[in-house]
Amino acid sequence: MPSIKRPSSSPSPSEVTRLEAVARRLNKAWSGLPAVEILRNAFADSAFIKNPVLVSSFGADSAVLLHLLSLVDQSAEVVFLDTGFHFDETLAYRSQLTRALGLTGVRVARVDPLEAKRHDAQGRLHRDQADACCQLRKVNTLNRHLRMNDAWISGQRQAQSSTRVEVQCVEVDRLRGKLKINPLAQWSENEIATYKVANDLLEHPLVSQGFWSVGCAPCTSPVMFGEASRAGRWRGSAKLECGLHDRTHIIASSENVA
Ligand code: SF4
Repeated sequence: MPSIKRPSSSPSPSEVTRLEAVARRLNKAWSGLPAVEILRNAFADSAFIKNPVLVSSFGADSAVLLHLLSLVDQSAEVVFLDTGFHFDETLAYRSQLTRALGLTGVRVARVDPLEAKRHDAQGRLHRDQADACCQLRKVNTLNRHLRMNDAWISGQRQAQSSTRVEVQCVEVDRLRGKLKINPLAQWSENEIATYKVANDLLEHPLVSQGFWSVGCAPCTSPVMFGEASRAGRWRGSAKLECGLHDRTHIIASSENVA
């Protein structure tokens, strides 16, 4: 099988240096602000960020960031990466939550059909090459969508897993040459749960069945008592992340913040 290539080209070193300077400046100004203010700043059409997009999986905790966004701008751009393997419950939840929050800018980014036909015509790549499947169905799809955006916003939090403890408010996505903003970086599990209840947010229907983190159906299982929230993702394998948030390509730019 031919290897699956990333469709985007890497940014130049000078562009990465420029983005690092911007990220340091924004981190200094935004770290410690309430998440809703971080979102407000990100969508304020500043000199630093012109057209951000919020990337949402419409998963177990997605309602929090989407609700905060609805308080800032209901027409803001949101993208959902449709891998072709989502639970029916997730697709239904996406529609229900979008309606409930009055969001009008939700877009669906789909896998390139020619690429899918070339690399995964049978739809079985996830069975023994999960990294390649995520590259095809998630990473490349996001890369293509982000070509028109200079920043993206995610719901990543430090408390979610050992792979995310270094997540900062503003980072540089070196692979794509974008700023990456994580308004919930420092929120605890308890703060997420409290916010959901306080704002009566619609819950993903699979949460009540033990799915504390919801990804693609073939790669997600319920979490047992005492396990971490992402323990049900790619259960039985060493894989912990899909590659969208590959931290080897992320520069956390807070180290130099005064
Ligand atoms: S989570 Fe599983 S099905 Fe979804 S893109 Fe990754 S390997 Fe493929």
